[in-house]
Amino acid sequence: MKLSNRIQSITGTGADGWDVFYRSRRMIATGAQITELTIGEHDTKTHPSIMDAMDASVRAGNTGYAAVPGKLALRETIAKRVQSRTGVKTTPDNVLVTTGGQAALFSAHLALLDQGDTGLYMDPYYATYPGGIRALGANAQAVPTRSRFNFQPQRADLEAYAKGAKSLLINSPNNPTGVVYSRQTIEMIADFCLTHDIALISDEVYDTQVWSGEHISPRALPHMRDQTLVIGSMSKSHAMTGFRVGWVIGPEQVIVKILDLSTVNTYGVPGFIQDAANFALNAGDDLEHQVANVFRNRLKLAQEILAGENQIRLIPAQGAMYLMLDIRATGLSGDAFANQLLDEHHIAVMPGESFGASAAGHIRVAMTIPDDKFARALTQLIAFAKTKIS
Ligand code: PMP
Repeated sequence: MKLSNRIQSITGTGADGWDVFYRSRRMIATGAQITELTIGEHDTKTHPSIMDAMDASVRAGNTGYAAVPGKLALRETIAKRVQSRTGVKTTPDNVLVTTGGQAALFSAHLALLDQGDTGLYMDPYYATYPGGIRALGANAQAVPTRSRFNFQPQRADLEAYAKGAKSLLINSPNNPTGVVYSRQTIEMIADFCLTHDIALISDEVYDTQVWSGEHISPRALPHMRDQTLVIGSMSKSHAMTGFRVGWVIGPEQVIVKILDLSTVNTYGVPGFIQDAANFALNAGDDLEHQVANVFRNRLKLAQEILAGENQIRLIPAQGAMYLMLDIRATGLSGDAFANQLLDEHHIAVMPGESFGASAAGHIRVAMTIPDDKFARALTQLIAFAKTKIS
């Protein structure tokens, strides 16, 4: 069977920097004790009350096809939440429920890019970004951000790629850097998009995990309501990664077209799962604070361990469940550092290079294991780094 160029282009070419991750998984499979600080999955589980809500729904008979755009009750809850948190008028007609933020990202790009068009995304980036654009036969173009600016995008870097671009994908709070874009950055990005008529896709799946600064949704800035598609998800806010519930927020006429894609692709999200999501969103802020506070507390532990450390630099960790460490003082690439750390200390972290060229010489540490183990591993990691600095 001859495969399409599009499906073959998803993974791209060359090393993807995930070797350390796969190697650590192989070591675990052969019985090694590895401390994994790699992927963005909570160590806490979905709250039992959410599972009870799902169970009640499924037993009440919600096992048939659910409304393809998402159940009205859930879309109402999401719309209310977005409107109260951003001040931007949002109705259920602005909301499409998808199978996770992942499908929302893909749908948003399909709505904006034709074959051969250019979609921009900021580097470093969440691993699936370029593949999602390439899968459409579009040109995925990384825009660099820089460690010396704490990975806040700069206008000059965006301008260099403005010509012919149709969309720009941003992510704040950011995976992998832990950076929250400042108001100034968001305003600059909005102005850039309006000036060049580039549609903005704002991936806000970490919006409940903000440790310092404030989360600003660009959709709330002047003239941006019709220029922005917002990506949201239950995965990170409510530790519901496996439920696969996310959404796209956008202008009514765009949402109604993206619905066509859901109709021919997923035909909607299971109704009982949507009911669980609706329950979780209505359970109040305490539940989501509980989920977020685990990482907030671990960040405090990390900051204590790193206090006074001036050779290994922590990129200001303002949000999300990751630490980005600048390890260039060791003279090692992120890749070499991660491989040696795995071999010598059985600690697995992600090389910055896995997330794009802009994070070379950095490593990403996921704060996703219990506090005592996390503190021990980070202390060992720093001690290891010091042995490399002459
Ligand atoms: N965006 C970012 C930045 C992510 O880190 C992730 C998951 N790791 C997603 C989107 C997709 O999340 P989900 O599909 O689980 O909602």
